Amino acid sequence: MTEKLVLASGNSGKLKEFQALLASADFEVLPQAEFFATEAEESGLSFVENAIIKARYAANHSGLPALADDSGLEVDCLRGAPGIYSGRFAGENASDEDNNRKLLDQLQDIPEQQRSARFQCVLVYMRHAQDPGPLICQGTWEGMILSEPRGINGFGYDPLFFAPDQNCTSAQLSADTKNMVSHRGRAMKKLLAAFARGVVNKNTEGSAVRHA
Ligand code: IMP
Repeated sequence: MTEKLVLASGNSGKLKEFQALLASADFEVLPQAEFFATEAEESGLSFVENAIIKARYAANHSGLPALADDSGLEVDCLRGAPGIYSGRFAGENASDEDNNRKLLDQLQDIPEQQRSARFQCVLVYMRHAQDPGPLICQGTWEGMILSEPRGINGFGYDPLFFAPDQNCTSAQLSADTKNMVSHRGRAMKKLLAAFARGVVNKNTEGSAVRHA
């Protein structure tokens, strides 16, 4: 039986991607805009906290199970910055170029071997707003920050993120290849595998934390 869920994101690209992927798991993915207009305040200090806050808010305001994601870039020599602030690293309305410029400025004197970084993506599925055992799926993608941009695809920090497993930057990959190897792709695979295994019993109220 197809079950409805609300996606806790205002991004129409993400909505389409999740709709396509989750149709195979018998979920009909609805946009949050059908239920509420104001976004949850992302007051957490980690990706997982913010994804939980967004999923709980969406479940609460829709009365439906909810899926949320939170992602960003962690640079080791910056103690994980920009991290949860990746989208607004250079300020509230910063463009991708502004954020990339700030990152390059901060890494100006850092040698190549100390420029390790990773993209993180956390997906949280909650059956209802009081769900004590949300399904949490995390995907990471290891890389290095270059000293100048390479490639024109993608968004955000893609032109500066060199992925050794692909021998190029994320911005030099096609969208299809990036979706297969990226942090988001990896988290999605775990989510689909968990649904396929029946880890989430959609109609019961479990209590164990499910960490995929
Ligand atoms: P969000 O979780 O999709 O809102 O992503 C937050 C921010 O993290 C984005 O605005 C980007 O700056 C950065 N980010 C997340 N995923 C990627 C990616 O796949 N490529 C480049 N930047 C990313």
